[in-house]
Amino acid sequence: MSAYHPLNAEEAIQLAKSIPGRFPDHAELECREIGDGNLNLVFHVTAKNTADSIIIKQAVPYAKVVGESWPLSLDRARIERVALETQYSLCPNLVPKVYGYSDELAYTVMEDLSEYTIMRKGLIEGIAYPKFAEHIGEFMARTLFYTSDLGMNQQEKKVLAGRFVNPDLCKITEDLIFEDPYRESSNNNYPDHIADEAEALRTDLPLHFEVALLREKFLTHAQALLHGDLHTGSIFVTPESTKVIDPEFAYFGPMGFDIGAVIGNLLLNYAAQPGWSQDEYTQATREARLLEMASDVWNHFESNFRMLWNDDLLDEMSRTPGYQDYYVSQILKDTAGFAGCKMIRRIVGLSHVADIDTIADDTAREAAQRKALAIGKNLVRHHRSIKSFEDILTLIQQAT
Ligand code: ADP
Ligand code: MG
Ligand code: MG
Ligand code: MG
Repeated sequence: MSAYHPLNAEEAIQLAKSIPGRFPDHAELECREIGDGNLNLVFHVTAKNTADSIIIKQAVPYAKVVGESWPLSLDRARIERVALETQYSLCPNLVPKVYGYSDELAYTVMEDLSEYTIMRKGLIEGIAYPKFAEHIGEFMARTLFYTSDLGMNQQEKKVLAGRFVNPDLCKITEDLIFEDPYRESSNNNYPDHIADEAEALRTDLPLHFEVALLREKFLTHAQALLHGDLHTGSIFVTPESTKVIDPEFAYFGPMGFDIGAVIGNLLLNYAAQPGWSQDEYTQATREARLLEMASDVWNHFESNFRMLWNDDLLDEMSRTPGYQDYYVSQILKDTAGFAGCKMIRRIVGLSHVADIDTIADDTAREAAQRKALAIGKNLVRHHRSIKSFEDILTLIQQAT
């Protein structure tokens, strides 16, 4: 079973049995493939009559996009696994445990989180996650601080960065987020009723200028090890607990890209609320809760990050008065800009979000699409002048 091929369910069971100590010796195992079928296979292996279970995630060498095949390096399975292990070592409560892997077969065996809900689904159902902001703020502060030149030896950081050279997955981001929405592209995907918006995006040169600056950061600013795909579909939640999965886009990039992913996805759900809430009171409650959550995500990130800086900084130059404030203020600007880019691409680009696309009513869906675009564009346009999270909230209000 060593040369690469996509596993079948029987092979996944054999593999599960070979993981020491995972299942009782004579357990009868069952397997189901539960992935969404775009990029990877996900096998759920359970033992009959017990609670024992594991997940095996295997990369396939192509992405299925609009019926076509997009070749993708299998090395991303190694990158995802090393990222999971790195993040687990920094935040063991917030990341699934890795039990085994094969780089050749491009799979990772990990903790089964089936008791959790994918956050995007939970948010669509209107569920509150009162601990989420605290958890994700801690996750981002710790993973970003300890893999940056602030919390890591600068030579060791360069060596670690060498394990995260991820050109194929970075190209997906570069094309789908920073390129396609701003020009004619066969990758773009939007309904005719918002063709006016798509056209406006293609000709808005002041907006292109801000996107070009953010793209430059994504391409060149190797600030810390990013998760790289930290949307609400990569986060498992319960009201008490949070686990971050799916870091196959991990690479060394700008911290604000991860924070912006979380906040941009909360704002996509916010923009969708008129399509989901049954009455005005519910809508107002959920909208307020989502804005407070976005704000708390930033606040928890910032307080944890400053605490780590004050307690665990490795070098002297970074103690220079004013530098911490400057550094954090830059992360906030980047966060707003990247959040905006992510909102825009989820409306006109290749890959959308269920928060908006599954709104049943056509008028409500179109209103949500326009609202998300208005917020996204406002954040991108003004990201460099943002000084506090209040400024972000003002830009959101002005757009709606
Ligand atoms: P992809 O990179 O293909 O998006 P994900 O890692 O996001 O793959 O996994 C796809 C789906 O598989 C998830 O949305 C979830 O339903 C399921 N899944 C992935 N990892 C786990 C896990 N550790 N425990 C339970 N379910 C999982
Ligand atoms: Mg997927
Ligand atoms: Mg995923
Ligand atoms: Mg993925």
